[in-house]
Amino acid sequence: MCRHLAYLGPPVPLSGLLFDPPHALCRQAWAPRDMRGGGTVNVDGFGVGWYPGAGGEPVRYRRATPIWSDPSLLALAAATASGAILAAVRSATVGMPVTEGAAAPFAAGRWLFSHNGKVTGWPDSVAKLAERLPVRDLLTLDAPTDSALLWALVRDRLRTGADPGDALAGTVRAVHATAPESRLNLLLTDGERVAATTWGHALSLLDGPGSLTVSSEPLTDDPAWTEMPPRHLLVATRSTLDLTPLEAA
Ligand code: GLN
Repeated sequence: MCRHLAYLGPPVPLSGLLFDPPHALCRQAWAPRDMRGGGTVNVDGFGVGWYPGAGGEPVRYRRATPIWSDPSLLALAAATASGAILAAVRSATVGMPVTEGAAAPFAAGRWLFSHNGKVTGWPDSVAKLAERLPVRDLLTLDAPTDSALLWALVRDRLRTGADPGDALAGTVRAVHATAPESRLNLLLTDGERVAATTWGHALSLLDGPGSLTVSSEPLTDDPAWTEMPPRHLLVATRSTLDLTPLEAA
């Protein structure tokens, strides 16, 4: 169910993550190796967000079509380089719409966000959590999907001062408490930091000197890729990495 990745490091072309490696995100769209909880391919849209320069807001490109079928993306991805990238391919959960707005990354200011998974009992299971959000946030969701609501919950925590790791951890705990069995692999970046959770799905990590890639599935056969343990929170910059267990609330 969905594959996502984030990169921090020296500038690389978007194609270095989306198309070039043997198990690039494009390949993970049609031949994923580790789908859990239903779904076989990730063809219900894609998105990539990148930071064009230090201190600026990210640029986003999303479509509601399979990543390999976009006629503009190959050339765009080869010609565009960035030192901070977040991208995703989507397998829509049954009952959720296939629209551009439902494809990650979701964005606000410098933030980019993605969700790999599913909220069980949607939407009633999380009605109480949604009620606590400002009504404006609910009326301006990108799509009527669990992922878009999760982004609103995370963004609300960021707005009230939580750091990226706490915003993800707090959201996972709150959603798990009211919708147990949910799959909640969340991914968040502001171009300087990456925060990610493992909660029901796989996530692998390539920690190089001055760079970091997290991806639902390793992009290459390089043995330096390590799989993150389940129910953990990763918070990293280009030079630091913190991995902590995530306890249920
Ligand atoms: N439930 C989300 C959606 O439908 C994410 C799906 C996924 O991880 N496959 O958009």
